Formats: sequence, C-alpha cells, structure tokens
Amino acid sequence: SEVTFIMIKPDGVQRGLIGDIICRFEKKGFFLKAMKMVQVERSFAEKHYSDLSTKSFFGSLVEYIVSGPVVAMVWQGKGVVATGRKIIGATNPAASEPGTIRGDYCIEVSRNIIHGSDAVESAQKEIALWFPDGII
Ligand code: ATP
Ligand code: MG
Repeated sequence: SEVTFIMIKPDGVQRGLIGDIICRFEKKGFFLKAMKMVQVERSFAEKHYSDLSTKSFFGSLVEYIVSGPVVAMVWQGKGVVATGRKIIGATNPAASEPGTIRGDYCIEVSRNIIHGSDAVESAQKEIALWFPDGII
C-alpha cells in the first residue's frame, strides 16, 4: 500500500522528540517500514530540497538540515501521504493547529521539526534518494 517519507529534522532529534513523533504515527495505525539516523552532507540536503533551490531561504534551509543528525523513515498505510501531512501540520508553525506535531512543538518556520512528502510521486523520489538500497 501507500508509503511516505518522513524525516525528523535536527532540532526534533536534539530536543528529544523522536519517540513522540513515532508514537503519533504508530497510534494512528501506520506501519514503520524503514528507519535510520544519519548526518547528511550539504549536497545531499540540496538534492532533497532541490525543488526549493530558487527560494531565498534555500541556503539557510540546507544549513539547518546539515546542522545535526536526522531520522529518516518510511511509513506505510492507506492515505499515509496526505494524512501524514495532517499529523505534521502546516509548514509555518504560526498556522499549524494545536494537536499537530508542528502546532504542538515549534514556533519558527525555519525550525519546524519534521518533513513529510507532499505527494505520492515525491514520496517515491525521496524514498529512492534516502534508501537507495531499498527497504525490507
Ligand atoms: P517539508 O518539505 O520540510 O515537509 P513543507 O512541505 O511543509 O515542509 P516546503 O514548502 O516544502 O514546506 O518547505 C520546506 C521547508 O523549508 C519547510 O519545512 C521549512 O523548514 C523551510 N521553509 C519554508 N518556508 C520558509 C521560509 N519562508 N523561511 C524559512 N524557511 C522556510
Ligand atoms: Mg515540502
């Protein structure tokens, strides 16, 4: 069934939110297919966010992602791409509803804890990038 790519960003790891984030996806009923903690290179972070390369914040976004280890995960389940985005909440924490991950844990768009694929096709691309050897 459907899969999505979820990444806990360096601030989420540093602040000890890995367990809570995994718990929210598990309790919803999604299945954790793959997971690894990695410190990525600048060029890799640029590739992951290549769609945003023309944005003014691209440089600081890349700095943020390489600032410490991240937790990369593949989650599976019916509608997991769209529902995963709902669990995460709006991009800007000022607009994320309480009860969402960003709504509950952050205040700055530039440090918003977590990434989730925005479409089934981008999920496929991101999973291929982050898990090039495939997943079990
Ligand atoms: P993500 O792709 O990380 O799940 P998103 O899909 O909600 O987030 P995007 O538009 O893809 O939002 O932006 C990617 C990331 O770039 C955001 O999560 C945020 O960390 C950062 N970002 C977005 N807009 C801004 C901004 N105006 N200023 C600083 N950083 C931003
Ligand atoms: Mg995005």
